Amino acid sequence: MGLMKKFGLFFIFLLFSVLFASAEEGFVDILDLSKECGADIRADYWKGIYELKKGRTIVRFAEGCPWYLLNMNELITGLDSRVTDDGRFEIDSASAEEVKAFFAANSSVFGGIRYIVLDPGHGGKDPGAIGYFTEGGVKKTLREKDVVLSTALETAKLLKARYPDKEVLLTRGDDRYLKLEERTEIANSVELADNESMIFVSLHANASFNTAAKGFEVWYLPPEYRRNNLVDPDTVGGVDSDVIPILNTMLEEEYTIESVILGEKLLTSLDAQVGDISVNRGPKEESWFVVRNAHMPSVLIELGFVTNREEASLLSSTSYLKKLGKGIYNGIVDFINDFEQTGRTSD
Ligand SMILES: [Zn+2]
Repeated sequence: MGLMKKFGLFFIFLLFSVLFASAEEGFVDILDLSKECGADIRADYWKGIYELKKGRTIVRFAEGCPWYLLNMNELITGLDSRVTDDGRFEIDSASAEEVKAFFAANSSVFGGIRYIVLDPGHGGKDPGAIGYFTEGGVKKTLREKDVVLSTALETAKLLKARYPDKEVLLTRGDDRYLKLEERTEIANSVELADNESMIFVSLHANASFNTAAKGFEVWYLPPEYRRNNLVDPDTVGGVDSDVIPILNTMLEEEYTIESVILGEKLLTSLDAQVGDISVNRGPKEESWFVVRNAHMPSVLIELGFVTNREEASLLSSTSYLKKLGKGIYNGIVDFINDFEQTGRTSD
């Protein structure tokens, strides 16, 4: 072997050593990390978002973002990431170690749903939609605010009995007027631990110029609760404002998924209670975009049409409202069972 050849081999060895060393203390492929954590991986290449999930533990990364998100509510700083020429997403090995430790420590301590907020719409000086029906030859008036309050109270009663360890909150428990801020304040003011979640269910009744319209439907979020930002720039002090939209994108996708699941379960359970008398109008798909900025899984249920005389008569009956209340209760229980025991969608 000539000197040059020896030197060449040595050079190649040196090159490999350098490459190997930099890989060691440099970056870790997100796919390898998911395997090491025993987590499922989901990638949205269009948005540049990567998610590792195992049970209820979720870690989410975004390309170009120097933070990553733990369980949708905690920002971890100090992330270095890159996308390789062949399209692999890699993170720095120190962060990878943190993520591994997080999966090891947190997989079994998911706190579940701590708060269930029921929000009967309208109230006090705001009656909501008004309908009329005839009972025993007498014309009667039906007010949306009464329908939604009775139903919410029934659902709350059942939930409290079933879940003494959870907080069941009503935005109003009697006939009172609430400003919009007051309505959302209760949901936004509760203190949640890192591993706890909450859901928000708003109740309304429909009105239509078409007096034949009838049935119940679920919206994934009331437009009045639309928010522009999930992440409050003030609470993540020093965060580059360019990063806020990325974080919001990561969060909104999560809440949308949960809201859709909650909505589906509510429709199924309402159908089981009153499907033989009423009509299941299904999820409101056109509202998909509306749900984008919720702080938590949130849905709005339209219980029926007060403008349909037949349905207005039903909605005035205590036994029918009890059925609706039971249907909502069953849907929430089903969602909680799913959420707390089997984890999210992919389990
Ligand atoms: Zn309403």
